[in-house]
Amino acid sequence: MVRGLSHYIGGRLVEGTSGRFGDVFDPCTGDVQARVPLANQDEVRQAVAAAGEAQAGWAGTNAQRRARILLKFVDLVNRNMEELARLLSSEHGKTLADSKGDIQRGLEVVEFAAGAPHLLKGEFSTDAGTGIDIHSLRQPLGVVAGITPFNFPAMIPLWKSAPALAAGNSFILKPSERDPSVPLRLAELYSEAGVPDGVFTVVNGDKEAVDALLEDPWIKAVGFVGSTPIARYIYATAAAHGKRAQCFGGAKNHMVVMPDADLDQAADALVGSGYGSGGERCMAVSVAVPVGEETADRLVAKLQDRVKGLRVGHSLAPDSDFGPVVSAAAKERIEGYIRSGVDDGAALLADGRGLRVEGHENGFWLGPTLFDHVTPEMAVYRDEIFGPVLSVVRAAGYEDALRLCTENPYGNGVAIFTRDGDAARDFATRVDVGMVGINVPIPVPLAYYTFGGWKASGFGDLNQHGADAFRFYTKTKTVTTRWPSGIRQGSSFVMPEGS
Ligand code: NAD
Repeated sequence: MVRGLSHYIGGRLVEGTSGRFGDVFDPCTGDVQARVPLANQDEVRQAVAAAGEAQAGWAGTNAQRRARILLKFVDLVNRNMEELARLLSSEHGKTLADSKGDIQRGLEVVEFAAGAPHLLKGEFSTDAGTGIDIHSLRQPLGVVAGITPFNFPAMIPLWKSAPALAAGNSFILKPSERDPSVPLRLAELYSEAGVPDGVFTVVNGDKEAVDALLEDPWIKAVGFVGSTPIARYIYATAAAHGKRAQCFGGAKNHMVVMPDADLDQAADALVGSGYGSGGERCMAVSVAVPVGEETADRLVAKLQDRVKGLRVGHSLAPDSDFGPVVSAAAKERIEGYIRSGVDDGAALLADGRGLRVEGHENGFWLGPTLFDHVTPEMAVYRDEIFGPVLSVVRAAGYEDALRLCTENPYGNGVAIFTRDGDAARDFATRVDVGMVGINVPIPVPLAYYTFGGWKASGFGDLNQHGADAFRFYTKTKTVTTRWPSGIRQGSSFVMPEGS
């Protein structure tokens, strides 16, 4: 049976009226399991109006109470973890354990955002001038929007929404049309936790809904996560409409393996971070950069061994290392890259094409693919493939490896595996990438640090979560005060100074 999905506007599920729908697949079977409405401009306008009406009351609810509601939400999500994770796996295709991780990493940001009473504190200076005090306030922006990708349908909506709500904004989520069911359930749980009607909204849709949000004068800020071309478009369009924007894009994450590294540890890390979630993570390592031919030969042999043992299967099967990719189109795109790698002369050591999973022959399956002798001109190196494809680019020395990472147009994550503290420190200092792991393959910072890539991986000047999220979702007002009992100085016609 194909489920009919809705929007979530004004605190309830609302059917779409545009007459346009998108198919939501089960990637394990290839079947359409739901139809999601694609909102038009009018529906977006109605959603924004409902969010705008609710915002003042929410902003007037003190931060401690808002935080308490968020903590209740955390409790509700935890109680519904199993159901949410199954729903997530069924639309995305990642394993159940990975889906739980997706939700958990989102909840950690909700827990952090519950520190809003502290995080929203302003500054105060007494006697800044004779009888004069200055203080600053952080005030919510109003109605803000988040546009999120398919690959973390719980985590990223939570990264975006929790700090925005904690800061007193109304939040409109436009989730990926490929896996919208978990965001809709999160909306219901936000309501159940006590978030007032209209304060958290889900508008499903595609470019039409996104453009309507970008053009709406009531939307004050847009947080985006997705591919780089769309990130650039949203950043430019939001700015042209006078909005604050932070837009995070694609990635090509490298892992440098030094000759002194523990190669078993490095190979384990590469296999987990390269193939976990079918490579559909913005922090997946897709390029291994062994330093020196001997390191490369030894590392590649270990990778080949491990790749042979990987189990690709149904996302709910407990022994699957990873599941299918998200769509038939994604599978086709990735297979195209594998063909191009072969045509360009890379050595295909493991070929994931043609994988059959017994009983689920129509699923979007791709096995782990390993290329050696990849060079920087090849498309498999240049482009983000976003699938279970790991490329080995051999570097002659440390400086070559560092240059490769630094000169890559993307700058999301990078790692170095070594036992040499000097090399690790030098690498972390000089590499032109936003998040660095030292013997850690997927260096996703925890909620109380910020997350953000550089160069083509991030547009805007503030990162996600951590203190930056509260800066992004608030505006600072500075108040200078003198009470009538202060000393009378008469009129002054010169610029006041601090001295
Ligand atoms: P995507 O860019 O196709 O879609 C992201 C969002 O943009 C979706 O909500 C989609 O509906 C919307 N969208 C798509 N095309 C649009 C258009 N032409 N105009 C307006 N809106 C449009 O990305 P995806 O395939 O859902 O997600 C995968 C991508 O996200 C990868 O590139 C991955 O690296 C990236 N990603 C980045 C981060 C990060 O933090 N840097 C995190 C997760 C995923």
